[in-house]
Amino acid sequence: MPTAVAAARSILTRLHEVMASRAHAQGKLNRVVDVIAEEMNSEVCSIYLLREGMLELFATHGLSQKAVHVTRMDIGEGLVGTIAQNIDTLNLAEATAHPDFSYRPETGEEKFHSFAGVPIVRRQRAVGVLAVQHAESRRYDEVEIEALQTVAMVLSELIANAELIDEDEALSAAMAATGPERLTGLALVKGLAEGHAVFHQPRITIEHVVAEDTEAERQRVYLAFDKMREQIDRMASQAEFGGGGEHDEVLETYRMFAYDEGWSRRINEAIDSGLTAEAAIERVQQRTRMRMRQIDDPLLADRMHDLEDLANRLLRTVSGQVGTAASQGLRSDAILIARNLGPAELLEYDRRRLKGVILEEGSLTAHVVIVARAMGIPVLGRVRGIRGKVREGDPMLLDGDQGTVTLRPIPAMVEAFDARFAKSRERQAGYAAMRDLDPVTKDGQRITLMINAGLRDDMGLLSLTGADGVGLFRTEFQFLVSATMPARERQTRLYRDVLDAAGDKPVVFRTVDIGGDKVLPYLRHNDGETEENPAMGWRALRVALEREGLMKAQARSLLEAAGGRTLNVMFPMVSEPWEFDAARDVFQKQVAWLKQQRKPLPEAIRYGAMLEVPALAEVLDVLAPKLSFLSIGTNDLTQFLFAADRSNPKLAERYDWLSPAILRFLARVVRDIGDHPVDLTVCGEMGGRRLEALALIGLGIGRLSITPAAVGPIKALVRSIDAAEIRDAMTGWLAEPRADMRATLLEWAAARKIEVD
Ligand code: PEP
Ligand code: MG
Repeated sequence: MPTAVAAARSILTRLHEVMASRAHAQGKLNRVVDVIAEEMNSEVCSIYLLREGMLELFATHGLSQKAVHVTRMDIGEGLVGTIAQNIDTLNLAEATAHPDFSYRPETGEEKFHSFAGVPIVRRQRAVGVLAVQHAESRRYDEVEIEALQTVAMVLSELIANAELIDEDEALSAAMAATGPERLTGLALVKGLAEGHAVFHQPRITIEHVVAEDTEAERQRVYLAFDKMREQIDRMASQAEFGGGGEHDEVLETYRMFAYDEGWSRRINEAIDSGLTAEAAIERVQQRTRMRMRQIDDPLLADRMHDLEDLANRLLRTVSGQVGTAASQGLRSDAILIARNLGPAELLEYDRRRLKGVILEEGSLTAHVVIVARAMGIPVLGRVRGIRGKVREGDPMLLDGDQGTVTLRPIPAMVEAFDARFAKSRERQAGYAAMRDLDPVTKDGQRITLMINAGLRDDMGLLSLTGADGVGLFRTEFQFLVSATMPARERQTRLYRDVLDAAGDKPVVFRTVDIGGDKVLPYLRHNDGETEENPAMGWRALRVALEREGLMKAQARSLLEAAGGRTLNVMFPMVSEPWEFDAARDVFQKQVAWLKQQRKPLPEAIRYGAMLEVPALAEVLDVLAPKLSFLSIGTNDLTQFLFAADRSNPKLAERYDWLSPAILRFLARVVRDIGDHPVDLTVCGEMGGRRLEALALIGLGIGRLSITPAAVGPIKALVRSIDAAEIRDAMTGWLAEPRADMRATLLEWAAARKIEVD
C-alpha cells in the first residue's frame, strides 16, 4: 500500500495537469473522476455540486452517465446529502445499511456495496461532495480517506476558478441547511442585537491548494512557524496576557502546540504530497478534527479550540493576512466573535455596524465590557465553544437580556425576536420620554444621576439621557485608542470639546487610569518587567506619580481646557492620603506656572479621589477634609475586597455586589464621610443596575454615575421608590444581614411592585 504522502502526491500531480489543461470545466470534472477512480482503484467516483439549493451529480466514473445532471438531492437527504449537511466524512462497508441511504435507480448503483464520501468545502461550508464506491464490501483505510480529502480541497479550488457553481447562492443554501442552534452564556451587557457573525480573527479562505514549488512552500511554513512561535513567546512575556489563571493555561497549551514536532512534521508531509503551505495546514487540521471528534472528552474539546486558534494564526501568518476584522472593515451589521478582546481592540470597530459581541470568556467589569456598555453594544460572555459552532457570515440573534444567542435562526425565530426588539425599542423610547423628568423619589429626594463617559462621541448622550452631568470621564480611553502617547495639544482639544459639549453640566475628569487590563503598548515599565498581578500592580495614580511627565502634561491640558470654568479632577486608585496630596501638587504647580504665563485659569478647581482601594477607607477622616468629592469605584473596590480578579471569567459570578460585606463596607463609608462637605458618588457598574441602585439609595447614597444606557431605567426606578422606606429596611438588614441579600431585596421590591430587572 502506498504511503499517504505518495498516494496523495501521485493524485495531485495528475490533478494538477487536469487543472492546467485547456479543457472546459465539465471536461475537467470528467477527467478528475477518471483520475481518482484509477488512482484509488475504485469502481465508482462521483462529484456532486450544489446548484439551486440541491446537490446535483456533476460527473461520475462508474455510475450511469444518464444520471449526470439528473440525480439531485436535498442537503440532508441520502448519504451525499448527509455528508454535506454534517460537513463530515462517511466511510461505510455497506452503504445500504446506513439509515440515511436513499436509492436512486437511474444511477445503477445497486451493485456497489462500500461507499466513502467527503465534503467539498468552501469558506467553511459544504458546496459539494466527492464519493467513491466499490462492489466489494469493505471499509476504506485512512490513506484512502485522506487522499479523498486532499482531492476535495483541490476540487474546491477548481470549482471556484471555473465558476462551476454560483458560489454565493451555494453558500447560502449550505448555510440554511445547517439549521438553527441556541447557545447560552452570561449576559455582560444587556440588550438585543441582530447581525452576521464576524470573527475578530478572521478565518482564511484558501485560494491555492496545489503547489507549484514544494521547496518554496516548505520555506513559507518554516518562516510562519518561526514567526508564530515568536509571537506566542512574546505574548507569554507580556503583562496583558500573563494575568494568571485561565490565560496562563491557554498560553501554556499554545506553546505546547506551537513547539509540537508532530504537528510541524505532518504539515511538512502534506506539503511533500504536493499541497501549498495553506492547504497543508488546513489538511492536517481536518485530520486532527476528525480524530478529536471520535474522542468524547470535554477537556480535549477545549484543547481542540486552542489548536484551531493556533492553526488559524499560522494560516494568517503564512498567507500574510494578519489584521483583525476591524482592519478589514465591517461590511454589514455584525456580531463580533472572539475568545476575548481588549478595550482598545473593540474601539477599532465601526460603531455603526457593530451590533453585538460574543466572547468565549469575559466578565462583568472587564474594561472591554465597560466600553461596550458605554457604546450601547450588547455583550454575551462565557459562550464556550461558539467559535466551533458558528461560521463567518452566519446570521445571529443575540439576546443579551436572556443571555442567549441563536445561530442561523429560521424565519419564525427572527419574527419573534423582531417583535421583542420592537418592544424593547418602545421601552427605550419610554425612557427617552423621561429625559426631562427629574430623578426624584416618591418622598421627594432628588437623586443626582450622571453618566460615565470616555470618548468625545459619548457627550451627545448627556442631552439624550437628560443626565445631570458626567460623573466619570475616563481620560485613558484617548490613550487606549492611540498608537502613541497623545500629545498635550490633542488632550487639551478633547477636554475642551467635552466641556463645550457639556455646557452648564459638570464633568468629572479622572486622570489616566492605565495598567491592569488597560495596557498601552507605548508605556511600559522602565525595566521591561512584567507583572504577576497587573490589577494590583503599577497602574493608575501609581504610574502617574512615577511618570510625572505624563501627569504634568495631563494637568496642563485639563487646566487650559477649563480656563474660565470649573474643573473637576479626580484621582484613581488613591491608596493613602499622601498620594492625593502629591497628585494635587502636580496640578497646583501647573496652576502656578500658568499664572506666571498669564494664561487663563479655571474659575474653580475641585479635587476629588476615587475610593477603590479598601485601605483608603481606614483613613477617610484624614483625607475627607482635603476633598471636594469622593467617588466609589465599586468595580475595583469589590475585586480588592473579595480578592477576586475582576477580569477573571472563572470568578465572574462568584461574588455578589449585594453581599452583606460590600453593603456594610459602603454603609461605613457613608457614615465616615458624614458631615464633611464632600459629594459622595458611586461610579462603578453597580450603580447602573436597578436592584443594586435600590440598595445604594437605601445606604444613603444620593449620587450615581452610571453607564448612559442605564439612565432611563434608573430614573424610572428612582421615581417609583420611597427613599426613607428603603433606608429603614436597609438599616434593619445591615444589623442582621441575611446571606442572600439579593433575594431579600428582590422580595422587598416585588412586594411593592417596583420593577428591578
Ligand atoms: C471602578 O473601578 O469602579 C471604576 C469606575 O473605574 P474603572 O472601572 O475604570 O476601573
Ligand atoms: Mg477603577
